[in-house]
Amino acid sequence: MSALMPTYKRLPVTFVRGEGAVLWDHKGRPFLDGLSGIAVTNLGHCHPNVTAAIQEQAATLMHASNLFRIAQQERLAAELSAATGMEAMFFCNSGAEANEVAIKLARRYGHEQGINVPTTVVLESAFHGRTMGALAATAGHIMKENFEPMLQGFERVPRNDIAAIEAAASSNPNIVAVLVEPVQGEGGVRQLDVEYLRALRALCDRKNWLLMFDEVQCGNGRSGSLYAFQQLGVTPDVLVTAKGLGNGFPIGCCMARGDAAQVLKAGDHGTTYGGNPLGCSAGSAVINTIASDSLCDRVAPIREHIIHGFESALKRTDSVREIRGLGLMIGIEVNVPAGDLVRLGLEQGVVINVTAGNTIRLLPPLVMTDAQATELGQIVADVVNNIEESTS
Ligand code: PLP
Repeated sequence: MSALMPTYKRLPVTFVRGEGAVLWDHKGRPFLDGLSGIAVTNLGHCHPNVTAAIQEQAATLMHASNLFRIAQQERLAAELSAATGMEAMFFCNSGAEANEVAIKLARRYGHEQGINVPTTVVLESAFHGRTMGALAATAGHIMKENFEPMLQGFERVPRNDIAAIEAAASSNPNIVAVLVEPVQGEGGVRQLDVEYLRALRALCDRKNWLLMFDEVQCGNGRSGSLYAFQQLGVTPDVLVTAKGLGNGFPIGCCMARGDAAQVLKAGDHGTTYGGNPLGCSAGSAVINTIASDSLCDRVAPIREHIIHGFESALKRTDSVREIRGLGLMIGIEVNVPAGDLVRLGLEQGVVINVTAGNTIRLLPPLVMTDAQATELGQIVADVVNNIEESTS
C-alpha cells in the first residue's frame, strides 16, 4: 500500500535511470523506451545539454517571481518566436495549464467584440488535459463523469468535417475560436487532414475566429518539424505546447501572433512558477539542441525503421487494422485484444502504450538509433503475434 491517491492503475515497474532511448528498472534490467514518458523526453533521457543547463541554472537562480523580469524567460520567448513566427508567449508548467491560457485568451477575445458568452469549437476524440477548462474541451464522458458541472462555452463537432463547423457557425453567433490538435494523441493518434486544416484556417479568417493548435503532444520536434503546423502549412493564431519543451522539466507555453498576441493584458492571467529560470533554461537547451543536432531529420528514418521492423516480424497482417500518425507519433490499430499489450511489452523489454482502446501508441525519442527502432518494431510485432496466437 502506498500513501498515494489511487488515480493511476500503475504497472509494477520502477524506472530508476535513463539514458538516450533506454530506461533501467531498480533491478538493473534495461527497457527500450517507445513512449518517452508520453512524448516528453524527445531528446532521450538525461540529454547532456539539458542536464547541464538545469545543473548550471539550479546552482545560480531557480526562482524569482514573475513580478520581476526573468532573463531566461525572455530568451526562450525570443527563441520560440524566431523558430515559429509567434509573437507573444505565456509560460506555465503543463499542457493543461497552457490550454487554460488559450481558453481564457479566446474568451477575452470574444468579450472584446461584445460576445459575452464566447464559444470555442472543439473536436470529437480531442484531449486537452484534466484541469476543469481543458477537461471541458476534451471529448468523451468517462473522464468527466462525477466532475460535473463542466465549464460551458464549448461546441463539439466531428473531426475532418468542415461542413459541421459551418453548420455550427450558422446556428451559433457566439463562436470565437477553434481549438484542435493537428495530430490527435490520446484520441487514437490521428493526423487531421491537411485540406481540413486549410479549410479551418480560411473559415477562421472569414469569421474572425482564432485558430488554436494544441501541440502539447505533437510539438517540439516529434512530428518531424519543430511544430507540426510548420510542415502542414497552416499557421494558427494560438499555439499551445508543453511536454517535450522541457524534456522532463515541467514547462508549458501558450504562444500567440497577430491580434491574438494583444489580447491578454496585465492582470488577466498569472502563475507563480510559470516561466521560472530553471524551466526556461531547460526549454532553451531543448529548442537549441533540436536545431543544432538536426533532430527533426531523424524523425522519418526512425519511423520507417520502426514500421519496417514491425511489418517484417508481424505474422498475420489481419491482426492490424491501420498504421497511422505523423512522424514519431505512430498509432497501430490492432484487431487483437489490446488490454494486455503494455504489460506483455514490458515482459519483452519495451515500453509502449495503448490508447483509444485498441491503438498501440509509439512515441519514441528522436535520438533512437536505427537499430533500436527496428528492434522496437520487431518486439511490438512479437507481442501482437503472441496475443494473436493465444486468442485464436
Ligand atoms: N494536450 C494534449 C494534446 C495532450 O496530449 C496532453 C497530455 O497528454 C495535454 C494537453 C495535457 O498535458 P498535461 O498532462 O501536461 O497537463
